[in-house]
Amino acid sequence: RAKLSGRGTWCRFTPGMEGELRARQELRTALRRAFGTDELALHYQPLVNLRAGTISSFEALLRWRHPEFGMVSPADFIPVAEESGLIKPIGAWVLRTACAEAAGWPEPIGVAVNLSVLQFRSGGLAQIVREALDHSGLVPARLQLEITESVLLDDNGANIRTLRDLRDMGVRITMDDFGTGYSSLSYLRQFPFDKIKVDRSFVSELPEGRESMAVIRAVAGLGRSLGIVTTVEGVETELQLATVTAEGFDEAQGFFFSQPIPADQVRRTLAALGIL
Ligand code: C2E
Ligand code: MG
Ligand code: MG
Ligand code: MG
Repeated sequence: RAKLSGRGTWCRFTPGMEGELRARQELRTALRRAFGTDELALHYQPLVNLRAGTISSFEALLRWRHPEFGMVSPADFIPVAEESGLIKPIGAWVLRTACAEAAGWPEPIGVAVNLSVLQFRSGGLAQIVREALDHSGLVPARLQLEITESVLLDDNGANIRTLRDLRDMGVRITMDDFGTGYSSLSYLRQFPFDKIKVDRSFVSELPEGRESMAVIRAVAGLGRSLGIVTTVEGVETELQLATVTAEGFDEAQGFFFSQPIPADQVRRTLAALGIL
C-alpha cells in the first residue's frame, strides 16, 4: 500500500524509488473512487484589496480528505489527476461548484479558479465555463481563472484562442505563480492578462531578500504601467504585508489574513467582517 506519513494535518507520500509507481497507481484508483463523493471539496482563501481593506474575492482550492490517508495535498493528487486524465471531469466539477457557491456570496465578491493546462487540451473549456456561469447565474466578471505559464508554453495558438473566448465572455484571466517560469515576462506580451499573482516563494523572502524585493518592485511597476491588477500569494507576516502595500500592490492573499476555509465558513467570515 502507499505509504503516507503525517506532517501537520497534511499527509505526504514518502515512497521509496520502487514504491513510487505503486503509490501513484493506488492514489489514482483512490482518486477515481473519491470523485463524485464528498471526499472532494473546495476550500476558499480570501484575496484582500489592500486599498479598500476588504475581501475582493476568494480562491477556490481543491481539498481531498481520504478516509484512511486523511488530507492529501493538491501537490500530490493534482499531478495524479493530470496523468490519469481525471483532471478534466474534476476540473469541470470545480468550475461548476465554485460558480454555484460564489453565486450565493454578496456582489461584487468574486471567485478565482485554478485551471490545469490539460483542461485546455482537446477543446471544450470555454463551453464548460459558459455552462458553469449559466447554471449558477454568476456574473462572468466575478469569475477569475488562474493559469500558469504552461498554458502559453504548450501553445500552438489554440490556448490563446480559448483564453480570448473566455475573456470575450467577460471572465478575468490571472497569471498565477508569476516569476517561477522561464519567461514570465514574454507571456505578458502574448495575452492581455487582467491580473498577475506573484509566486509565494518571492513573498516568503521579503523584506530581506534583495532579489525578491527587486522582483516585487518590478511587478508593481509593470502592473501600474500596463494597467494589470497585481496580487501576491503567501503573505504570512505583518512586515510582508506592509512591504507589498508600500510597493503599491493591489491585493494580497495568505495565512496572515486567513487559511483556506470550508465553503460554509465563507458567509460567516463575511458576516463577521460586516460585509454580509
Ligand atoms: P496555487 O494556485 O498557487 O495556490 C496557492 C497555494 O498556496 C495554496 O496551496 C494555498 O493554500 C497556499 N497558501 C496560501 N497562502 C499561504 C501562506 O501564507 N503560506 C503558505 N505556506 N501557503 C499558502 P494548496 O491549496 O496546497 O494548493 C497547491 C496548488 O495546487 C495550487 O497552487 C494550485 O496550483 C493547485 N490546485 C489547488 N486546487 C486546484 C484546482 O481546483 N485545480 C487545479 N488545476 N489546481 C489546483
Ligand atoms: Mg492559484
Ligand atoms: Mg498561485
Ligand atoms: Mg503558487
